Amino acid sequence: MTTLFISDLHLSAERPAIIALFERFLDERARRGAALYILGDLFEYWIGDEAVAQPEYRPAIESLKRCTDHGLPVFVMHGNRDFLLGEGFMRATGCRLLPDPTVIDLYDEKVLVMHGDTLCTDDVDYQRFRRMVRDPDWIAQFIAKPLAERIAMAQDLRETSKTATAAKKPEIMDVNPGAVEAVMHAHRVRHLIHGHTHRPAQHELVLDGAPARRTVLGDWYEQGSVLACTPQQCVLERLD
Ligand code: MN
Repeated sequence: MTTLFISDLHLSAERPAIIALFERFLDERARRGAALYILGDLFEYWIGDEAVAQPEYRPAIESLKRCTDHGLPVFVMHGNRDFLLGEGFMRATGCRLLPDPTVIDLYDEKVLVMHGDTLCTDDVDYQRFRRMVRDPDWIAQFIAKPLAERIAMAQDLRETSKTATAAKKPEIMDVNPGAVEAVMHAHRVRHLIHGHTHRPAQHELVLDGAPARRTVLGDWYEQGSVLACTPQQCVLERLD
């Protein structure tokens, strides 16, 4: 049995082929697995759980529900785009919300799973923005706005983020090695799995004098990306 990890699908009506790829992945692959972990940014943006009813999201939501009805445990972590995924989404899909970060037991090894944005500590502007939008008062005010206004705001924020990202040096937007070591040390793990940076890779590192690993999941913009783990090994695969 295989445990699967994915992140950064950024599902949106603008990329119907990726929604179709995700449905196929769920129905043909994930359903036969031991568990599925979605480590943030399943959706391009999420304006609140009323979005469950939006037609463009129905196929993904129904496929997730088929998986959980079939008995597959599916865990969903908030990303920086979809941190408003709430109870309504979990009920509609049968998924379980996973706090960021969480230590899981993967075939008797403790593994830390995160979205990954909190590791990008060199991006001071982003971290300031993150603190603002994760503030409970900001969230309460946002959720109280009419749906159309929330959609417009989410699209605005996405455009602002794209412009800011394009203007930043690539190394600023990658994880900070010190932040990686600190969080792995604090949780006493030798394997960290995260997404967010869209730089799929399996990095070997030395932590407290012993070998350790950091696996970065890829995005689903042009293709899919999945980490498939068995008791023997973890393989990072590209899906077409
Ligand atoms: Mn992200």
